[in-house]
Amino acid sequence: MTSLNVYGYDKYDLTENLEALRPFVGADKFVDADIDPTAYDSNDLVGMNRWVNLFQCAHAYVTNYNGTFDYMVDMRKRDSSLTIPMLRGVLNCMRAELSRMDKFKDTNSADTIATEDTISGRYAIDLNGKLGFFKVDVVTEGKWAGWTFVKRIIGGGRGSDNLVPVKGSERSTVLNTIGSDPQGAMLRYGQEIGICGVCSRDLTDESSRAKGIGPICSENLGW
Ligand SMILES: [Zn+2]
Repeated sequence: MTSLNVYGYDKYDLTENLEALRPFVGADKFVDADIDPTAYDSNDLVGMNRWVNLFQCAHAYVTNYNGTFDYMVDMRKRDSSLTIPMLRGVLNCMRAELSRMDKFKDTNSADTIATEDTISGRYAIDLNGKLGFFKVDVVTEGKWAGWTFVKRIIGGGRGSDNLVPVKGSERSTVLNTIGSDPQGAMLRYGQEIGICGVCSRDLTDESSRAKGIGPICSENLGW
């Protein structure tokens, strides 16, 4: 999960707590009355239910918080004695975090880019007359399912230390270029670097080097 830290995104384990809040997030910030039971009419079951849910969301988030944001660390220490203004502060932190998460997702989801034929692996493509090397992770399982991560490979790509996240318009350009000819881009990587773009094994066999892919991956993909 090294790549997540690059974004300062260290609250991965709290995603479920955050998502629980989503149905209660409106256009405006939370105010004290949202978490104050006396502000609701006791006959207003919808209102009371909302209050209970907000209260539980805030407490679940505080209890599970393992990040480094000072305010939240302080709130966790006070968990059993959180006042209404404190809970309001927690809910607004969560609200901001949800929106940050969504922005992060926007720049990493495959939704708007034609990547159906793109598989996870390493690719070489021409960008503005320069050959660039990229690692693409098309995630199909788990919490990040549907996301596509793009990283630039610098210095041979043998370890995650050599991978730099690619975001925004550059990411779209990279994915669209690869998407126009994934096979060509992956074989090019193998030919240039001497490593199979699918499984990252060294290509030692002469015909594999010429082709740019190992024999097993070549057969699996029908390339
Ligand atoms: Zn291979």
